[in-house]
Amino acid sequence: MMQDKQYLMIPGPTPVPPAVFSAMARPIIGHRTEDFAEMYKRIVEKLQVVFQTKNDILVLTNSGTGGMEAAVANTVNPGDKVLALVTGNFGERFAKIARAYQGDVDEVNFSWGESVDLKVVEEKLKNNRYKVVLATQNETSTGVCNDIAGIGALVGKTDALLLVDGVSGVGGLEIKTDEWQVDILVTASQKAMMLPPGLAMVSVSPRAWEVIKESKSPHFYLSLSAAKKSYDKWNTAYTPGVSLFAGLEAGLDMMMAEGMSNVYARHKLLSKAAQAAVKALGLELFAREDSISPLVTAIKSPEGIDGDDIRKILKKEFGVTFAGGQSSLKGKIFRIAHMGFADKMDVIIAISALEMSLVRMGIPLEMGKGVQAAQQVFLGGK
Ligand SMILES: *Cc1c(COP(=O)(O)O)cnc(C)c1O
Repeated sequence: MMQDKQYLMIPGPTPVPPAVFSAMARPIIGHRTEDFAEMYKRIVEKLQVVFQTKNDILVLTNSGTGGMEAAVANTVNPGDKVLALVTGNFGERFAKIARAYQGDVDEVNFSWGESVDLKVVEEKLKNNRYKVVLATQNETSTGVCNDIAGIGALVGKTDALLLVDGVSGVGGLEIKTDEWQVDILVTASQKAMMLPPGLAMVSVSPRAWEVIKESKSPHFYLSLSAAKKSYDKWNTAYTPGVSLFAGLEAGLDMMMAEGMSNVYARHKLLSKAAQAAVKALGLELFAREDSISPLVTAIKSPEGIDGDDIRKILKKEFGVTFAGGQSSLKGKIFRIAHMGFADKMDVIIAISALEMSLVRMGIPLEMGKGVQAAQQVFLGGK
């Protein structure tokens, strides 16, 4: 097998388009220059289209978790009441960060594979006064997406700030930051945004800025007030990942050229094809039907089979990398990402390789059935 011919199908880092890499290969520019300031300004204007917001969007040089920590560190003071809506591993991480900043965290766990139940949120908000509510747009660990519009409508009736982890969602799954009353939205470069890892993008509402001004938690690199001071001059507090900024602009230009509604429709189509293929092969989807993420398909490992063994064959024989299950789901599920720089033939490759790997493992199935189901979706059939 050719070592270089690899098919990366994990939910981050995701494949990077050639146009992004070539933008990143341009000569480095100094970050205290007019050129950088102009680029940062253009990037923010394009990000505001993706985020559907008029809010400030700070581009921070750290991974998605750094963005999540910045959101919490600047709004949660010791003892503040925090409601954490947890639907998987990343929701848990958000809650852990709030605890690290000594928030008084009320963690509500929904069954893994299911999305947030709005009735539970309504009840919680009725009986408690929270300063901050934490939610996940796209729970990558379980392949579930949450109803941020619904959560936002409920939180918006209270004084609480809504902080949303959109790390794997933004860029592939629509978000209406302003309309849905999301106070802080965090995303990162290496998922649906089609970049290498290294940047977090954080939008901050005017209401959130008021709270941030009163922050009493210790922070330095992650200070959003410091970031804002520089942002007002289209600059960054510390040295930014200059090349990643250049790549980010190229990736955003690709999205603008395709049109955001087409970007979202493409992700939905890929998800539909992947789901049809999984069912045609007699496999089971992990996420509940009404909660399935259009960006990542989580599949239950067949009875008596460790999903990680399937993944080993996929990688070794076909150069295809799927993601495994995290925490309690290890070995029990595997996940195919179709986010960012992904299109129809990626799903065909994924399903074809999956079929061959399952047959290799001695699982009886009719090869081609999954591929055919996906093909039918792409041709507009049933
Ligand atoms: C990947 C991911 C993160 C973590 O981002 P890092 O860049 O790895 O720090 C957080 N939340 C979600 C939903 C993710 O998918």
